[in-house]
Parts: sequence; structure tokens; C-alpha cells
Amino acid sequence: MARDYYEILNVPPDASLEEIKAAYRRLAREYHPDVRKDDPLAEERFKEINEAYQVLSDPQKRAEYDRAGRRVSPAAGPFDFRSPFEELFEAFFGGPAPRTEQAPQRGADLRYDLEVTLEEAASGAERTVEVTRLETCPSCFGTGAERGGGLRECPSCRGSGQLRYSRRTAFGHFTQITTCPRCGGEGRVLVNPCGRCEGAGRVQAQRTVTVRIPVGVEDGTTLRVAGEGEAGLYGGARGDLYVVVRLAPHPVFRRKGKDLYADLTLSMVQAALGDEVEVPTLEGPERLAVPAGVQPGEVVTLKGRGMPDLQGRRGDLHFRVKVEVPRHLTGEQRRLLVELARSMGLQVKPQRRRLSDRVKDLLS
Ligand SMILES: [Zn+2]
Ligand SMILES: [Zn+2]
Repeated sequence: MARDYYEILNVPPDASLEEIKAAYRRLAREYHPDVRKDDPLAEERFKEINEAYQVLSDPQKRAEYDRAGRRVSPAAGPFDFRSPFEELFEAFFGGPAPRTEQAPQRGADLRYDLEVTLEEAASGAERTVEVTRLETCPSCFGTGAERGGGLRECPSCRGSGQLRYSRRTAFGHFTQITTCPRCGGEGRVLVNPCGRCEGAGRVQAQRTVTVRIPVGVEDGTTLRVAGEGEAGLYGGARGDLYVVVRLAPHPVFRRKGKDLYADLTLSMVQAALGDEVEVPTLEGPERLAVPAGVQPGEVVTLKGRGMPDLQGRRGDLHFRVKVEVPRHLTGEQRRLLVELARSMGLQVKPQRRRLSDRVKDLLS
């Protein structure tokens, strides 16, 4: 999907900065996810609008983008999803945002443990996860203030953050300096804090994030989803989401690196004569030739039917042979086995089945 930032903002390629700002404010008002609560596409669209604005409102980024033939260069690195809150504030409140003068603060990274099936790890998958995280407050755009509010110089300390007490004693002149209790040493206090976030600038929200599970992922692999962590403060970039993959146990296959293991139960006749049997693979049932005389514990391998690694090269699928001895014999089968024993030169004294096993047979 080629994304043209000029088309996204619906401005001509020679648009002035003022035109770009105006277009952004208009679209932000229209597509803000808080305005379009019932439109599932609004958030994606809003992100796109922010991204386009971030590039086109920055003369250097815009020149680079134009030079690259108006294509997003993959070399530009992960995009940070910061939204320009001064512009947003102006878009919604029609006046300039309150000055915060706080240094931008990056949002925290988040961790999510995701259980993945062996099939998903083998073929790759897309999963959605629900994350609870801090989002930029949609009422104040992260400024923490209502319209007309904001951070103001602390009247107690006049912005210095400290209070000085002077005292003259018999021993001389003393000056004591303490941290201003009103502003906690910040030098500024918040007037008219935002009712929704109580001045914090961020609120807790639930978000659905799509995670791409790459082919060949292993237990413990950590996937980084850029920009899906917590929102930053004062225009700071978003944190990242780290998804730690946990491989769910599989009912049939055990994984060892690229190789898969499964049990293959054969009757003693199949083991002695060899056979072609149907076995499970990740892609469905397949035929496997079992050589005559295979022993319990021996391994029969299907080449190239194991797990892919991250480069897509596949390991093998190994079947460990188990041999089952028949529990019930008809008179005819018993006679044939006795004959077989004689032909093999074995001295066998056949016994009856245990009473407890016979009771079990009756009950089942
Ligand atoms: Zn103060
Ligand atoms: Zn707020």
C-alpha cells in the first residue's frame, strides 16, 4: 500500500505550512478516535493523519520525503507515533495550548506474554492482543489542563522552587533554604487541571494491538511492536510493546529446535514385517514406510517435515517406535503364534491371561 502523505492530508504538493496545519486540524477534528467512537477504522486513519502531519510539517523531513519520490523510506527507521498536541489542542479548543515547558518524556515499554500454538509458530500468524496502557488524555491532549489552564509560575516561590528564611542571632546571620511545599520544588503549579485525567495528561485505556508471529518463532522469542507501548508525556514518543512468545504444548508433537518428535505405535506384526502407515504431520496425514524388523525405541524419520527456522529452512519429523503386544488372541491366532514359535525354534509354555486383566476387559 503506497501511502502518499499529501493525499492523506488532502493538500497539493506545493502546500504551505499554514495550509498543512489547517488541513491537519480539520482532519484531526473529524477523525479523532474519541469523536468517532463507533468507527473501528478511525484510529488507524488518525494515526495516518498524524504520521503525514509529522513528516510534512517538518521542513527537513518533508524535503527528504519529496526527494525520495514521496515514498516512506524503510531506512528512516521505526516511526514514532507522537501526536502534536499543540496542534490538536488548537484544533479542538480553537486557541493555543497551555505552555507546559516540560521536557518531552518517552512512554514506558510494555510486556505481554502470548501463548502461540505449534501450528502458528510453523506457518506464521497474526494475533490480536488486548493491552491496558496509558494513552494521551483525549480531553486535554496530554497538557493536563482545561482550556485556559496550564502550568503557571508558583506564586509562593515565584518560580524558584525554593523558600529562603533569614534569621539574625547572637552568632550571626543565618539563611535557611527549603523546598517550596506548594509546588514541590517544580517552580510551577497547575491551574484548572483537566477533569478527565486530573492533570496527569494520560488516562488508562484498553487497546487491541495486532501482532505478527513470524515463521519459526521459538519459546521465549521476544517480538518488538514499535509505538504500541504507553503514550509519552509533553509530546514525548510512545514506548514499545514487547511480546514474549510462549509455545503451547502440542498434543502430538514435541519440539527440539528445528526437529519434531512424535510416538508411532505399531503392532508386533507391523514391526516384524514392516509396513506403510499413515502418520500425522503439521500439514496433515502422510504415508510413512516403516522398515521390517524395526525395534521399540528406534526412530523413523520424515525428512523436511519438522519446524521451519527463522530463515524458513525446515528440520525433520522423527517418529519413535512403540510396539504393542496384542492383549486378546482368538484360538486361531494363538495356534498360529505357537506354530511361529516352533518354526523359530523357541521353547514356549503359553500361559493364561491374568485374572485382574480379564476383569478389566469385562468392565471396559
Ligand atoms: Zn513554589
Ligand atoms: Zn486530561
